[in-house]
Amino acid sequence: MGSGYSEAKENKKTQVNNSTRIVDLRSDTFTQPSPEMREAIYKAELGDDVFGEDPTVNRLEKMAAEIFEMEDATFVASGTMGNIAAAMTHCTRGDEMIVGEKSHMYNAEAGAASALGGISVQSIANDSRGMIDLDELRSKIRPDNIHYPPTRLIGIENTANHCGGNALTAEEVQSIVAVAKERDVKVHVDGARIFNASVALETPVSQLVAGADTASFCLSKGLSCPVGSVLVGSHEDIEVARRWRKAMGGGMRQVGIIAAAGIVALETMVSRLAEDHTNARKLAVGLSNIEGITCDPDSYPTNLVFCDVIAKNPSEILQKMDEQGVKALSLPGGWRLVTHYGITSGDIDYALDIITNVFKEHASF
Ligand SMILES: *Cc1c(COP(=O)(O)O)cnc(C)c1O
Repeated sequence: MGSGYSEAKENKKTQVNNSTRIVDLRSDTFTQPSPEMREAIYKAELGDDVFGEDPTVNRLEKMAAEIFEMEDATFVASGTMGNIAAAMTHCTRGDEMIVGEKSHMYNAEAGAASALGGISVQSIANDSRGMIDLDELRSKIRPDNIHYPPTRLIGIENTANHCGGNALTAEEVQSIVAVAKERDVKVHVDGARIFNASVALETPVSQLVAGADTASFCLSKGLSCPVGSVLVGSHEDIEVARRWRKAMGGGMRQVGIIAAAGIVALETMVSRLAEDHTNARKLAVGLSNIEGITCDPDSYPTNLVFCDVIAKNPSEILQKMDEQGVKALSLPGGWRLVTHYGITSGDIDYALDIITNVFKEHASF
């Protein structure tokens, strides 16, 4: 075993011994790679992926395509890159895509679809679960008329991050796909956390993307990889997406060094997501019992928990929690707390103790 690996372990140990216990619930993007991933990274067989010759990337792409029952896949630097490559694959300059008003594709991709792709973006209302109304969708798909941008793509987010991390069922996805197909519109699933949806619903991811043209998923969130996402779709679409990936500067070379972790993630990190969901439930129930917080545990079926802070001084409270190592994310509408690999059931007890005490001592009403 290389010295780099054991040194990293040593560092981690010293760090932990010298500081307060940290329970970082801001995001599942804070996950650290598992020891097995670090070992796979160390041992990964590499080649130049821009030439299509990195055996580790090729293996990851093949695995992803098989799991999603799609023809092909391409490894991308981030979920954002996967979504933009998909949008640019399905739409050309002047075309339109429809995405949820609360979606990542609409709000959190720096306007790339229009800035880079010249794509016109129309939003559609998301209900509290992240679903969209099918009649509204029908009315938003543009008729063929020279005044309108041609609607080419519908984006679906699953799980729906800003809708409580809710999981859309296979039937719900199918119903959107059916409307899209009626009008010859493509469907992309932003499945950054689709494995959380799959575990929560006990439905294979292949069923959650059935009929969709492309889907992307993040390796770097609950699946705990340091970097990376994968875009899956037909051979034809993935070939086009690879060109856009290159255009965005995402053609990487011996990138098997990070794809290696992705293989371990697909092999070992999916079923453990159930533990994150159990911990999230426990966290939400605990939060709902704290005076100064409102939280409905039944609204959060996966690993994302949202709560409203009724106290008048939420930022002061957040600061006090932070000083004691418990971190939550402040959003415009309240706080988000996310469970993930590295957060144990004991960490949830610990965090709830700290949060309860901070509210008792510092909340003003
Ligand atoms: C995180 C996220 C993405 C983008 O992932 P990055 O890797 O951060 O670019 C896309 N969609 C959703 C719903 C996300 O939560």
